[in-house]
Amino acid sequence: MLTELTRLVILQKIDLRLLEIKQKKGDLPQIVDTLSHALQKLDAELTVDTKRQKEITLEITRLDNQITDDKLRLTKFQDQLYLVTSNKEYDALTSEIDQMKQDIDKSEYTILTLTDEADKLKESIKSKTLSHQEKSQELEIRAAELEKMNQYTKEAHEKAMAERENVLEMIPLRYIREYDRIANAKEGIAIVSIHQMFEEKVDKKGNVEYIPGQVFCSGCHKIVPPQKAVEIRSGNQIIRCEFCGRMLYQDESSENRTSNEEEIF
Ligand SMILES: [Zn+2]
Repeated sequence: MLTELTRLVILQKIDLRLLEIKQKKGDLPQIVDTLSHALQKLDAELTVDTKRQKEITLEITRLDNQITDDKLRLTKFQDQLYLVTSNKEYDALTSEIDQMKQDIDKSEYTILTLTDEADKLKESIKSKTLSHQEKSQELEIRAAELEKMNQYTKEAHEKAMAERENVLEMIPLRYIREYDRIANAKEGIAIVSIHQMFEEKVDKKGNVEYIPGQVFCSGCHKIVPPQKAVEIRSGNQIIRCEFCGRMLYQDESSENRTSNEEEIF
């Protein structure tokens, strides 16, 4: 078989091991990532909410003080009403009193609106804090699981990566590019073996014979034309599956295995 092809097969076997390691971790890395992001978002929201809460408290205090002052001035104006001597003075004072009343009403209304906002904010902060606690706890558990899994798979991962580096150095770049392109499009599987089917034939005497039948691509399970199968077996060039585009090779170790035998045993 072509040296490049042999090395690509080795590369694929290493990558399958790496894929297996990744699959062992399952959704854990994704879950940890999602939880971390959700917590960051909650942190940011809680910071904004808490800041607004403080602003509201300060604003309500300021308005309360203003109302107290305004009410004092109002009482003073109302007392002065009894002391006025002219209509002009009376009208001016009445106008001041009306303005003061309007100001007080406006402040009180603003306090109501702000109190309403503060109540809603309090509820929101409460539920976000609770959610934050739950997510933090879950993250702690999941991150510990992932860490444990990483330690467990670290050695196997490092070994596979070192082997990968070695084999990559021995493959021309254009083959690696081709391999990567197919692997990216086909869930990490760029090169697959062909699979020979055997048909069971019983002669008149009852003797069973197995006759080579069709050849399949073990990646997409579609038929490989006989001429192509011959070329693949010769191993002199890289042949691709017409259907899935993966590179094909003849796996010597599985040469004698047939699906019919598998069915029999
Ligand atoms: Zn195929």
